[in-house]
Amino acid sequence: MIGANNRDSHKSQVYAAEDLSAELTVLVEPQPIEQLQGVVDDLCASPWWVRHFDSRPIRVHTNRSAQRSYFNPTQRCISLSPVAHDLNTLLHELAHAACADLGRTGPVHGPEFRAVHVLIRTAVTGQQSGDDLRKVYEQFGLGAGQLSDLDEPSHAPILGGAPYLAERIVGRPGFASKATAHKGPIAL
Ligand SMILES: [Zn+2]
Repeated sequence: MIGANNRDSHKSQVYAAEDLSAELTVLVEPQPIEQLQGVVDDLCASPWWVRHFDSRPIRVHTNRSAQRSYFNPTQRCISLSPVAHDLNTLLHELAHAACADLGRTGPVHGPEFRAVHVLIRTAVTGQQSGDDLRKVYEQFGLGAGQLSDLDEPSHAPILGGAPYLAERIVGRPGFASKATAHKGPIAL
């Protein structure tokens, strides 16, 4: 429950930071939902995830009724907006799932969320991707926090050889420069 004093005050800054860090990368490319489900399945079966989080399956659905994406802890499902079938949104929601598994009670998009988010980016898309997100969070004045009970993912990135770096898709139409405004659907 978010109190009237706005415990989730970093929300819009978190969205802007993650959008900036994902811009021009594979993270923002639309993906078939089956592929996103496969990423979730592989992550949840990874030694790092099993060591720290609940390994019960997380289902990925399309939310056709609203322009938003969210994680439902009761149903243990991630519901993605029809226009947000991408890794950027998926990894954000996976960070919410991981925080729920840890029983974290801090602000929804606070330092603990950001620390977990960075680790999940590392686990799925590799060290550079995680480092990039951490740096952008810091540039936005958003410390990613330290979770002493969580270690860094030591396995190969879930997406293995999949391209993360911007060079692969620089110049594609539709990826213009403005990165500061959150233009997509709301990711809760
Ligand atoms: Zn969120």
